[in-house]
Amino acid sequence: MAEVLKGKPVADAILAELTKKIAELKERNLMPKLGIIRVGARPDDLYYEGGVKKTCAAIGLLLQVFEYPENIAQDVFEKEVAEVVAKKDIHGILMFAPLPKHLNEKKIRSLISVAKDVDCLNIASAGQVYADELGAFPPCTPAACMEMLHFYNIPIKGRRCVVLGRSLVVGKPMAMLLLREHGTVTICHSRTIDLPEVCREADILIAGVGRAKMVNADYVKKGQVVIDVGINQDPDNPGKYCGDVNFQAVEPIVEKISPVPAGVGSITTAMLCKHTVMACETLSQ
Ligand code: NAP
Repeated sequence: MAEVLKGKPVADAILAELTKKIAELKERNLMPKLGIIRVGARPDDLYYEGGVKKTCAAIGLLLQVFEYPENIAQDVFEKEVAEVVAKKDIHGILMFAPLPKHLNEKKIRSLISVAKDVDCLNIASAGQVYADELGAFPPCTPAACMEMLHFYNIPIKGRRCVVLGRSLVVGKPMAMLLLREHGTVTICHSRTIDLPEVCREADILIAGVGRAKMVNADYVKKGQVVIDVGINQDPDNPGKYCGDVNFQAVEPIVEKISPVPAGVGSITTAMLCKHTVMACETLSQ
């Protein structure tokens, strides 16, 4: 039976550390604060926002939501975002994406300064992350995977890491973070030939494809660590969600595996808070 890598103990450890740090900062009159920019009121965004609000309240991190109507004009929105970014009391900014189609999202993302870009929305932040410049924040999800690997003492240096997926928010930054810690990294995608065979070569397999239970018994081998980033509707349990890994089939084979739900997803909000506190410290130096 594999060791199940639960997200909650990882998140709890990060949040306990942050609670102490925020209290220390407050003693120095520094009030770390996250700003959320939301256009419209999509249920997914509201759900995530609700979770972030709860976590922030629990650790003493200030939060302000900047909400805009769905039909906001590009020029008006650009001005609003620039004003939020310029606020001295806001240290981290999360903007829900995708934005409504009529907005030029790339342009809006570029307005979020790298120093406050706690979820790596600006392409300039991604560039700095890829160049191993430590002033920029990687997206919270791959950062959460790294925290999980560290928490469970899973060595990365010199080991074969296979990342399934090459999106800007999961796959690519994931590969870069593993590379930064000296993993030997292969990135797979929809055109990879013999995908199961490539995945079987991994010591650490990270799945971020957005395909329910795609990673099956033939993708894995004994001794592997499998981290499942996927969040998909579960085709076998309507109303529930599942990962990219077929947990039932894979768990008996591998050494360690993260579950969905209760895996990486539980750590993402903690990372958002951590990045915001780090931004506050840097901006106030
Ligand atoms: P995405 O933008 O759709 O990217 C999916 C990637 O998977 C692409 O690179 C795609 O390859 C590859 N892919 C798709 N089908 C494939 C197949 N059959 N074989 C091999 N590769 C395949 O998705 P994403 O935003 O990266 O998200 C990935 C998953 O992570 C989703 O389930 C999402 O819900 C989840 N997610 C979780 C969190 C979290 O906090 N846990 C956060 C963000 C996302 P091509 O590039 O060739 O098309």
